[in-house]
Amino acid sequence: MVTALFMTALCAASLYQSRLDAMARATETSRNLAVMAQRDIERNFELYALSLQAVIDGVNDPEVMRSVPRLRHEMLFDRAATATYLGSILVLDAAGNIVIDSGSDVPRKANFADRKYFAVHRDNPSAGLYISDPYLSRLRGGSPSIALSRRISRPDGSFAGVAMVAVDLEYFHHLFAGLSLGSHGSVALIGRDGAMIMRQPYDRHLIGRNIRDASTFRQFIAAPEGSFSDTATIDGVKRLYYFRNFPHLPLIIMVASAHSDIYAAWQHRALTIGSLMAVCALGFVGLSFALGAQLRRRMRAESELAMLARTDGLTGLNNRRTLGEILDREWRHARRTRSVFSLLFVDVDRFKAYNDTYGHQAGDDALAAVARCIGENIRRPADSAARYGGEEFVVVLPDTSPEGAASIGEKIRAAISDLAIEHAGSEYGRVTASIGAAAWTPDEDEDVTAVIRAADEALYNAKATGRNKVALSTAPAA
Ligand code: GH3
Ligand code: MG
Ligand code: MG
Repeated sequence: MVTALFMTALCAASLYQSRLDAMARATETSRNLAVMAQRDIERNFELYALSLQAVIDGVNDPEVMRSVPRLRHEMLFDRAATATYLGSILVLDAAGNIVIDSGSDVPRKANFADRKYFAVHRDNPSAGLYISDPYLSRLRGGSPSIALSRRISRPDGSFAGVAMVAVDLEYFHHLFAGLSLGSHGSVALIGRDGAMIMRQPYDRHLIGRNIRDASTFRQFIAAPEGSFSDTATIDGVKRLYYFRNFPHLPLIIMVASAHSDIYAAWQHRALTIGSLMAVCALGFVGLSFALGAQLRRRMRAESELAMLARTDGLTGLNNRRTLGEILDREWRHARRTRSVFSLLFVDVDRFKAYNDTYGHQAGDDALAAVARCIGENIRRPADSAARYGGEEFVVVLPDTSPEGAASIGEKIRAAISDLAIEHAGSEYGRVTASIGAAAWTPDEDEDVTAVIRAADEALYNAKATGRNKVALSTAPAA
């Protein structure tokens, strides 16, 4: 589980990082688009401003103004005036009437005193180069335009008129139309006063609209450039906005890309990798569980086998081999602690006769019952019983006095007798057992076989003196 969790966390972290990368890349792309568009606009505006300045210089030059209209026209308007998207270059007098017209040798009849670019210069001598909000051109069939204008002053500083050049908004439309912005992206050129000059995707009704009160616009004017994410109230689409204020012109360029477009490729990848990862992690966990279950089954089987190897199949008591280990261990323990080591040797009486009378199956059942009596009468955890072989059993009683050993032996004897298993060949008429007990405090050089021998001898005595009794070995150390 931990490994799967770790792998999943690693995958999630890497996907999260690539999500951040997608956003960083989108910001970078927006910035590049904005910078390229800004440079193009700035360069063109610089040329327009130069043309305008040339006209003003010409108008202020009496020699130019004295020459015949055709020559004057050529001197005032260089070839830049014929550039694509450039409307007429006009000189207006103090009343707003056209006095010089790049579009015609004889100025067309029109008055523009109502235009803001005229009023600005009339009312403010230091307005400099003014860029107007979008308006519909009267001379070019209503095509939307903006004007770049400058004031013409008399030598005494009083207002003499305005020189202006009209830039067809088609120029921006064309510039922006070439940019690839994703299905929900947009790019816009906005005046610093909030007037929408051009926007892609193009909507005629949005041109000229003032967005001064939009929350996004307030962020545009708060810093020279920057980016932020916001959800548009109009369509509820969350977008990344990148904006840049032109350093020398009152314009702002904005590139917006929808989060859905930015993350589209990432989402696809995250879904694929994420689901593969989930399948892998689940598979890993499943496999681990299956292997774990298999391992537990094996361990159970192994411990069962080990248990079987240690016990006697018929009686469930320890077998002879295990008895060897127990004797060895307990004898060493008794030697170390100088404690009394007791041992019981239990032998069923006249069992050959029982087998002969009742058959081997009944003999086996009787042995199992005798073994139960032995097992039930040893209580302390250190005590253990084993089948020594045939109808003989050994009970190991560490830290047990001779009296204690004799008393346990007596309890076992009585329990077997109380089973009251019929045995016609026995002098007692029932299955009984004789028990030899030995209790020794081991010396350094003594062997456990000596105790077994002593218990065996005691058993022999019990048999010889009538059976169904407990005899205690009179060993020297007991
Ligand atoms: P005693 O009172 O002197 O001990 O007489 P006994 O007949 O019990 O003596 P002996 O040791 O000669 O006989 C042991 C008999 O126990 C031999 C065999 O018939 C029987 N026996 C030994 N192991 C098994 C066993 O696993 N199952 C059965 N059914 N009988 C067994
Ligand atoms: Mg025997
Ligand atoms: Mg016997």
